[in-house]
Amino acid sequence: MYPKYCYYSKVTKCQSQPIVFPAQHQDVQPGLEYLMDPLPIAENPEYRGSGKLAGKVAIITGGDSGIGRAAAIAFAKEGANVVIVYLYEHRDAEYTKRRIEELGQQCLAIAGDLRSPLVSQEVVRRTLKGFGQIDILVNNHGVQFPQCSILEITDAQLEDTFRTNIFAFFYMTKAVLPHMARGSCIINTTSVTAYEGNRYLIDYSATKGAIVAFTRSLSLSLADAGIRVNAVAPGPIWTPLQPASWPAEYITTFGTDTPMKRPGQPFELAPAYVYLASQDSGYVSGQVLHVNGGTITST
Ligand code: NAD
Ligand code: MG
Repeated sequence: MYPKYCYYSKVTKCQSQPIVFPAQHQDVQPGLEYLMDPLPIAENPEYRGSGKLAGKVAIITGGDSGIGRAAAIAFAKEGANVVIVYLYEHRDAEYTKRRIEELGQQCLAIAGDLRSPLVSQEVVRRTLKGFGQIDILVNNHGVQFPQCSILEITDAQLEDTFRTNIFAFFYMTKAVLPHMARGSCIINTTSVTAYEGNRYLIDYSATKGAIVAFTRSLSLSLADAGIRVNAVAPGPIWTPLQPASWPAEYITTFGTDTPMKRPGQPFELAPAYVYLASQDSGYVSGQVLHVNGGTITST
């Protein structure tokens, strides 16, 4: 049930050891988690829920795989029913749904292209039909298309990156908000690249900076309504986004330039999402949690 448990032990017990991955590349984006070698580790088997999200309903975009899958499984362990939204990775989504159901919670898996605002409205319609309420929105989906120069970022790529990574966060938020009560919350996935920059990811990093400003502004705007808005800024994490965007050789040293000299695994992000989704963070809004292997960011 837990892929490569010994690998998990290696990550957690010998954190100073660099983790080296086999060279690999996937031609399509979003990438497919089930094709990755080794499989990412979505779940910490030692994580025990304590009902922090009992009775809640969460929508997680990009919840089929990677960081979104890890958050979805942890939310289920904390007692939430979860809606996962994804583009076309049906097999990855099926795994996540099955695991959530094994944990005794319900999962609705919805395939759709969030670049269209109509899809956000459809996600909300189906969530309300299935569960009758929405308490937590995790805007987490995203794409990245590395280029060596800004001159190689085509107008079509620029449009696609912004429409996917930030416009769709507006679309999802606008669709969900009318149905959120006091005590609800929104969590956005940004990136360490918003703080450090990345010479190969100029358009992507710009969308991630936009997500930070979006998080802060939305939190101010929703404070009176009792809705908290926060973000998580991951460093390099072993997810399908990586082999689907970087050249095969780059993968072999992926994440080794962090102070901890290794990439993170998706399960290491999950507690940050649980914290921001639960009342444990009841006095926290407009903030960004950095889960990045020790990289120091300015805020
Ligand atoms: P991932 O590929 O597992 O997740 C991204 C998801 O986005 C995919 O599962 C896909 O279904 C969804 N998606 C993409 N385009 C979509 C569209 N048009 N409509 C609907 N869904 C769409 O990779 P991940 O790394 O877990 O990514 C999750 C988030 O984490 C992203 O926002 C990414 O930018 C961010 N992030 C990742 C890293 C990392 O190193 N992996 C670092 C910093 C930030
Ligand atoms: Mg996916």
